[in-house]
This record gives sequence, C-alpha cells and structure tokens, in this order.
Amino acid sequence: MTATLFPSPVWPNVPVEGRAGRYPVHRIFCVGRNYADHAKEMGVEVDREAPFYFLKDAQAIVPTGATVAYPPGTANYHYEMELVIAVGAPVFRATPEEAQAAIFGYASGLDMTRRDLQLDARAKQRPWDLGKNFERSAVIAPLVEAAAVPDLGARRIALSVNGDIRQDAHLSDLVWSPVELITHLSGFYHLAPGDLIYTGTPAGVGAVVPGDSIVGTIDGLPDVTLTVGEAE
Ligand code: MN
Repeated sequence: MTATLFPSPVWPNVPVEGRAGRYPVHRIFCVGRNYADHAKEMGVEVDREAPFYFLKDAQAIVPTGATVAYPPGTANYHYEMELVIAVGAPVFRATPEEAQAAIFGYASGLDMTRRDLQLDARAKQRPWDLGKNFERSAVIAPLVEAAAVPDLGARRIALSVNGDIRQDAHLSDLVWSPVELITHLSGFYHLAPGDLIYTGTPAGVGAVVPGDSIVGTIDGLPDVTLTVGEAE
C-alpha cells in the first residue's frame, strides 16, 4: 500500500444496541421535505413526484450526548429531529422487497442546520452545502436493528428544547417510507452497508442558542441529545 502524505481521515462509526461491533459510516444521505407540515412551515410544498436529497460528509457524525460549539457563519442554528435508516446490504435498483431486506436498523438523529445559509442558498438557487453539510452537524444515537422495531409508523417522533416540546409527530406522517426511500435512492446510487439516510423532519423546527439542551425521541429507540456550546 502506498503511504499517504498526511494521516488518512478516520471513518466514524456508530454503536449498535446489544452488539459489540459498531456500524461504520460511509455516506450520509438526507431527505428534504418528507413531512407535509414541515414543508408548509418552510413555505414550500412536498414534491409528490419524487423525494429529493442532499448529503453530509461522514465526518459530520456526532455521537449523542455531545456538546457542540455554536457553529460559525450563522445567526440561525436550527435543530431537525429525524428517523435515521442504516443500510445493511448492497442494493442497486432495489425492488420494495429488496429495499426492506436491506434495512439494517434505525436510529434517532438530528440534522443540525444553518437555516439562514440554507434559505439564502435556496433563494439564489444554489446548493445547500453551507447550510447543511458542516462539521458536527449530523448527531446520532445508537442504532437498533430493524427486527427489534416493528410497526414503525405507529411510533411517535418528538423533540424538546430545555424541556419544552417543539416537534411532535408520528412516523406514519412520513411522505416517503424507509422502503420507498431506499427503492428510489438505489436507482441513483449503489447503496451499501455504511450508508445512512436521514429521513427528514416534522414541523416545529426552530433556533437554538448556547446553553440549550436538545432531546429527540422516537418510541422504541434510544434518545438523541445535544447541548449547544459557546461559539468558538
Ligand atoms: Mn433534515
């Protein structure tokens, strides 16, 4: 193997409930507008034809419980509580059955967002990277294997800031289900173990400031928590 001039990045990984081995993170796909009420509060509509995506670098992963410094370049740092899917088998142009079989597990996650930069990019028809793909912006709790989380749609997804409930919905409100997302996304990428999909957020997104404590919950999954630290 040829030596690299600088140390290679260390790929992040995520613990799995009840397992010694951890889940390695390769890519982070994120779905935009997957709850109708959230699309509405953002002043847009869900595109019923097809979901759309943006990506975050794997290095954006932050384990639950972390304190993250208020990020640079924003005055409107937002939480988005999301169900995260972990892909557990290679799939390309998956049928719904293949998509279902390719789901390794689920986690609670936060898609942290520099909302002012995202909206500015959206208005100028530019990419969302500055608003979405920044350091320590993808918070994740331990994964739970899919078999341990039946009847996903009945489950509540909620988020509180300093104990006040801000987001409160059910996974049945998802416009595109996990199987539909994998079926669609695998038409564009060879999905494989290591690929996470943040499935979008319900209504009630909002800003946080240093000192705030965020707790995100999905029934049957470990909570995801984040404390906002002082700006660097
Ligand atoms: Mn999101």
